[in-house]
Amino acid sequence: STADYQAMDAAHHWHPFSDMADLNRKGSRVISSAQGVWLTDTDGNRFIDGMSGLWCVNVGYGREEIVEAVARQLRDLPYYNTFFQCTHPAAAEFAEALANVAPPQMNRVFFTNSGSESNDTVFRLARVYWDCLGKPSKKIFIGRKNGYHGSTATATSMGGMAAMHGQSGLPFNGFAHIDQPYWYGEGRPEGLSPEEFGKLRAKQLEAKIDELGEENVCAFIAEPIQGAGGVIIPPESYWPEIQRICNEREILLITDEVICGFGRTGSWWGAETYGVTPDLMPIAKGMTSGYQPMGGVFISDKVAGPVMEKAGEFYHGYTYSGHPAACAAGLASLRILQEEKLVERVRDVLAPRMAKLWAGLADHPLVGETRTRGFLGAIELVKNKETGERFDGDLGVGGMARDLSVGKHGLVMRAVGDTMIASPPYVMTEEELDEMAARARATLDDLADKLTREG
Ligand code: PLP
Repeated sequence: STADYQAMDAAHHWHPFSDMADLNRKGSRVISSAQGVWLTDTDGNRFIDGMSGLWCVNVGYGREEIVEAVARQLRDLPYYNTFFQCTHPAAAEFAEALANVAPPQMNRVFFTNSGSESNDTVFRLARVYWDCLGKPSKKIFIGRKNGYHGSTATATSMGGMAAMHGQSGLPFNGFAHIDQPYWYGEGRPEGLSPEEFGKLRAKQLEAKIDELGEENVCAFIAEPIQGAGGVIIPPESYWPEIQRICNEREILLITDEVICGFGRTGSWWGAETYGVTPDLMPIAKGMTSGYQPMGGVFISDKVAGPVMEKAGEFYHGYTYSGHPAACAAGLASLRILQEEKLVERVRDVLAPRMAKLWAGLADHPLVGETRTRGFLGAIELVKNKETGERFDGDLGVGGMARDLSVGKHGLVMRAVGDTMIASPPYVMTEEELDEMAARARATLDDLADKLTREG
């Protein structure tokens, strides 16, 4: 029963990113099955999964093609490694299929098991690249405040999550951070249009390179759209300016495509959406649509060439790099994206509809701003709609909205502070998307009632 699972879980399972004392008081929600965009818990309650799990189940739940492909692979070859010049058919086929959809300058993929490992790989590979070019002093990574690149010590250092840094004495030396281009969050700075603001924010990279010394800077890493930081959609002026700076200064450009990749922003890559040409691209999540744990790094010819020639071996890899079952899942998921034209569906059907529906939510008294790009959306909850004044952080208004949304309205959305986030599967029907927006509005109404009642 649900109570049995909750008891076992509370006694023995330490959850990632969860307040364990609170969880033990309330009991976890036990999700036991899923189909399409719908989750079912052990009490039979159904929820619309507005988050695709953790931004990953892009092709939706219950895809028999993927299940079959994984089962077949496990029968044929459940495991073999890709170290020491070995490969297997699934790794070779998946690598080729990925290269076919990658940006033109990227022809190789290094397999990992997660986005965090992908970013650790990027960190080491970028440093090896500069060594090979005879510039070993170029070691510093510049990331962004509130950026998220994973939970390993290196990925945490690259990211800019203050709470994560605070808990473990990070970042390590060799990491610097600039501000994110968060126009609304910065209080819509007076006298600056979003475009002017975006350009100013990008110029911080130039200033940071000058401060650190170009000869010491290895790379700049950022998510095309900052996801876990609150779906921060940059003004159009932002990325072209970043690209200009990276072209003029000798530093590598890395777009973390763990969320934005595989169609989330309406084209295959966030870099494509914003017209930039990265040197390295970490990927994960949508790579297998979450059916198997997997990540990877796309490596441009510019980086691959010198490293292969000069370093010879890159002393790096994971036992499960290119795991056969993960490759089989990834290949099947990629085929679904291609055969069902799901990236085009995001661009032509889901993104415009979500933009319209989220714009429709902006008139709610609790909503300061809504924004969308591709099939990503955010709703900013504020105390004062006109001035943008925020609620006292201790109230946990975002958390209240999330609990009401899931508990009462059967809609899973994520709260980042007081920002409600959505990132649904690409197979969501237009009716389901309308239903999702209706449930979001009902949640906002309930939240308004609750806040009034509680003063
Ligand atoms: N990079 C980005 C942009 C992410 O959003 C995440 C996870 O949410 C990661 C990296 C880390 O991926 P993983 O949780 O698979 O290690």
